[in-house]
Amino acid sequence: MSPRKIALKCFAVLMAVSAAAYLSAFLFAATDKPDLDVMNRIRFEGLKHSQVGKTVAYLSDVIGPRPTGSPEIERANRWAAAKMKEWGLENVALEPYADFGVGWALRYVSAHLLEPHYAPLIAISVEWGSSTKGKITGAPVCVDIRSESDFARYKGKLAGKIVLYQPPQPVPTHFTPDARRHDAASLSALHETPIRAAEPPDPDYVRAFDDDLEEFFRSEGVGVLVSSSGNARREFGTVTARGVRQARDPKRPRPLPEIILAAEHYNRVHRIVEEFKEPARMEVEVRAEFYDKDRRGYNVVGEIRGTDKADEVVMLGGHIDSWSPGTGAADDAAGCAVSLEAVRILKALGIRPRRTIRVVLWSAEEKGWVGSKAYVEKHFGDTTTMTLKPEHAKVSGYFNYDNGSGRIRGIYAQSNAALKPVFEAWLEPFHDLGATEVVMRDTGGSDHGALDYIGLPAFQFIQDPLDYGTRVHHTNMDVFDHVSVEDLMQASVVMAAFVHNTAMREEMLPRKPLPDPMTYPIRRLP
Ligand SMILES: [Zn+2]
Repeated sequence: MSPRKIALKCFAVLMAVSAAAYLSAFLFAATDKPDLDVMNRIRFEGLKHSQVGKTVAYLSDVIGPRPTGSPEIERANRWAAAKMKEWGLENVALEPYADFGVGWALRYVSAHLLEPHYAPLIAISVEWGSSTKGKITGAPVCVDIRSESDFARYKGKLAGKIVLYQPPQPVPTHFTPDARRHDAASLSALHETPIRAAEPPDPDYVRAFDDDLEEFFRSEGVGVLVSSSGNARREFGTVTARGVRQARDPKRPRPLPEIILAAEHYNRVHRIVEEFKEPARMEVEVRAEFYDKDRRGYNVVGEIRGTDKADEVVMLGGHIDSWSPGTGAADDAAGCAVSLEAVRILKALGIRPRRTIRVVLWSAEEKGWVGSKAYVEKHFGDTTTMTLKPEHAKVSGYFNYDNGSGRIRGIYAQSNAALKPVFEAWLEPFHDLGATEVVMRDTGGSDHGALDYIGLPAFQFIQDPLDYGTRVHHTNMDVFDHVSVEDLMQASVVMAAFVHNTAMREEMLPRKPLPDPMTYPIRRLP
């Protein structure tokens, strides 16, 4: 063949290849172009007939805080299951998993300053904290224990006492607004993916001194411990919840009674006692209940069965457990309500999905993703060996909602480049509602992480922060009034659209390479 002929032949091959590539790119784009008629109907149902506000209000106002293992979460589980059935879901179940541990609920907490004059004090109980032995009245004692060598100074002096054991925390003045929405700059910053040379250390390290301190207070027979609201979200009477490590392990002694005071109130008592050495008197009572009969946890599941691809699954969810001081409205009744609303919308439209849509309301997210990790272990495989179960091959994607009640501004693609153009096409019909960005970076902090760890396509949305991080997250102010119902309506529409598109797509969502086995078990001891 002459050089000219070879060149011509090469050119022809090149043209054919690029035409094929162009065609497949076109076909690929075509499959990910959402059905705009369905998108319109989802918008109409979700924005005109929304139930999402009612769902959040019932879960938070009526059922209340939902620590895992409490009668309240049991009621929430049953209520959510009944809603799923009412809205036409199938295979609705409270799916148990072994060994959550001992459950807990707060029944009463009260704290007052009686001297130098009367003042009610804003107080919550630590989670899994015990009851006081009735009402304790007496002079508060401030201790300053930084190491074991300080124990001796207080030996024999703390029996039955009200003991403030932390240094006072400064309360800063706020010069920035509590609430904000994303703007172009803050959204654009999310497009850069940080690279880490090593994984951050496992935060569940053993805090030996904390154990020794607890043991010292226990052996001294302290009446009740008093601490100050944590380092974040502690001003203007906002109190952030805290738990006791491994408290739900039935083999460990029950934690001591402990109240957490609003920082301003803690500081005041501390100044009266330590700075002015004036006589002071407080009255404190805590009543808590432990639930030891059924140590299992439960995730609530329900399905819209698929049609020609029914054995493949699209999942969505939020967590139904909550911290105890507020009512778990934004965290995460909001995510449960958005997930329930998304499936309600799809049922109301009479959508018959190709793949099965499965909504899961996780328990014990706040105790370290216990419910979702147990679900992964039961259905998908073992993250320490990356031994996979057959169901692992059947999950197309999971969508999680757990960043407060702010509207969806986009989605984290969780380092899956193949998904970026797919999600961009899916967001297109919702740009006018503020949902525009697909960013490559990972996001963690909630149950999608348990599925991501075993290599399943699992995602969380970018949400407007509102005042979640500054005021609401895990505090006594996580209540319905700090939930934005309008934002949740928008979120339910976008959630329904993503779930629909995943269920209808010709192929399952593309996956990342399977992660390396984890060096520690995905489920830790309680
Ligand atoms: Zn949460």
